Amino acid sequence: MVNVEELFTNLAKSLLGDDIVDVLEVLLRKGTEMTDEEIANTLNIKVNDVRKKLNLLEEQGFVSYRKTRDKDSGWYIYYWKPNIEQINEILLSRKRLILDKLRIRLEYERNNTFFICPQDNARYSFEEAFENEFKCPKCGSQLSYYDSDKIKTFLEQKIRQIEEEIEKETKLGANKSS
Ligand SMILES: [Zn+2]
Repeated sequence: MVNVEELFTNLAKSLLGDDIVDVLEVLLRKGTEMTDEEIANTLNIKVNDVRKKLNLLEEQGFVSYRKTRDKDSGWYIYYWKPNIEQINEILLSRKRLILDKLRIRLEYERNNTFFICPQDNARYSFEEAFENEFKCPKCGSQLSYYDSDKIKTFLEQKIRQIEEEIEKETKLGANKSS
């Protein structure tokens, strides 16, 4: 299982360097919006340094903010949160793509009969084998029937696993945003 928060942090680290990680981790741990001053207090570093880091993170889409004007001082207060749903979406769509490919592959395996060359282990569809009179086009050996049950079982397991992951993560995302 991929830890999304770890992936999120690592991605930020690789793009922006190790320095920004503390701010991102505080936001992830807190799980709710924080002002730059709250972050500075938690980390015991200067507010200006926190703002610099937040700005870098914001440019790359890792965090976002909303601002309200303080009634007394007239200053803007920025509330920051990590955009972890975004990485979730990226991961999810990547998994859906893999799932589609696996399903297509499984259909192909189910709908076709295969033959294999015992010499070089090359696999041929029924049509290819038939056209070559069931002899290997490369070496001329007699082709034998290929049992693709193992591949099918493997694909079925893999598909089920990814389906479960997607379902779990979709639920997780729905809970977080509600
Ligand atoms: Zn061969």
